[in-house]
Amino acid sequence: MQKLFIKTYGCQMNVYDSERIADTLSPMGFTLTENPDDADLAILNTCHIREKAEQKMYSDLGRLRDRRDERRQENEDMIIAVGGCVAQAEGAEIMRQAPYVDIVFGPQAYHRLPEMVARAKRAKDAKEGKIGRGVGVVDTDFPIESKFDTLPQTEVSRAAAFLTIQEGCDKFCTYCVVPYTRGAEFSRPVADVIEEAKHLARLGAKEITLLGQNVNAYHGLPPVGHSEWGLGRLIREIAEVEGIERIRYTTSHPSDMDQDLIDAHRDVPQLMPYLHLPVQAGSNRVLEAMNRKHTRESYLEILEKLRQARPDIALSSDFIVGFPGESEKDFEQTLDLVRQVRYAQAYSFKYSIRPGTPAGLMELQLPEDVKSDRLQQLQAVLNEHQLAFNQASVGKVMKVLMERKGRYDGQLTGRTPYMQSITIEGNERLLGQIVDVVIDSGHANGVRGSVRLVS
Ligand code: SF4
Repeated sequence: MQKLFIKTYGCQMNVYDSERIADTLSPMGFTLTENPDDADLAILNTCHIREKAEQKMYSDLGRLRDRRDERRQENEDMIIAVGGCVAQAEGAEIMRQAPYVDIVFGPQAYHRLPEMVARAKRAKDAKEGKIGRGVGVVDTDFPIESKFDTLPQTEVSRAAAFLTIQEGCDKFCTYCVVPYTRGAEFSRPVADVIEEAKHLARLGAKEITLLGQNVNAYHGLPPVGHSEWGLGRLIREIAEVEGIERIRYTTSHPSDMDQDLIDAHRDVPQLMPYLHLPVQAGSNRVLEAMNRKHTRESYLEILEKLRQARPDIALSSDFIVGFPGESEKDFEQTLDLVRQVRYAQAYSFKYSIRPGTPAGLMELQLPEDVKSDRLQQLQAVLNEHQLAFNQASVGKVMKVLMERKGRYDGQLTGRTPYMQSITIEGNERLLGQIVDVVIDSGHANGVRGSVRLVS
């Protein structure tokens, strides 16, 4: 058996991709290891969204190269591969800066990894003894065939599973690289999605999170007829799959929140009362410069409709502070929007230039200290609201899917319906079960609870 190490950076779509990469390579005899030192094949599945992603990747690559050189002295070797969005955007640069890398592959090409690995092995055999250079297999094309058509189905059982239904983005927000690294919007046909959902349920999944860079832009070919299905209709169909008790979806764009999807939050009990709906900023001037295609008002209107459909819905968002040209007044509007919405949780970042994006070329880039100061102010308000939301849960009984062991012996962790992270003391046989839990305390990053005893 050969050992495969995968380090995943970034979002849940990358987590899903890494799982499928492992599935794809398993017929070649690769089993996963958590220790990069043991790896015959080491893959970094990269993310281009956050600042410093490249630096992190290069320092991880340097460590892998050192380990590979040590292994070579023991007559072993290691294939080093870089995948994901950084690989897609900067494949040639990676080969220049880290010439010891063997394989560079984009997110649309991982179904062809077995072929790439076989080629790398053959090339390595031919170049035996040469230390310091990789074998240079690069595949960053957007192929005609869909990777989803050729991937094997996973055989790994997970109580909470991911299912990618959509990839790519046509929105072109001015700060974002996704339309360039993941390509145009693509939706998997309904029948394929349902088949995968049934397969995951047979393997033991109770919760499915539907994934897409723009998941609510889903428009899949129907099983019969020609009118494409939107996400709301797809969710209704997945709710019929035996064994699936909880459904989530991420990440959504406000302009794709149609009425059918909003109604699904009212009509489908399996659809969890939580939505991550990024707004990014509270000022229309900034939203326009970001090319977000929604306004502050249209965003708030959607939230109002969602709250009418599902009054207890917990909301989450992403924020970028310090976008080029953001004035103090613009920033105040972001704070004002946050105070109005009161998010249950949120992710906030300082704007940083992504090379090749229009915002990177904009004038009026803000100084670091201004961005840091605004981020601190925003996070203070977001944290206050998150804590308040968690504390307001105390005394409630919630159904929790216990997903994994906690940090300490006897602890289990999971997620509440509202996506709060929860820790309980409990027996391991509860793993994979949906359990009634009483919330005992609320904290900054989650809640603690105890199993409700049935009298
Ligand atoms: S909607 Fe905007 S932020 Fe989201 S993936 Fe598309 S371009 Fe990027």
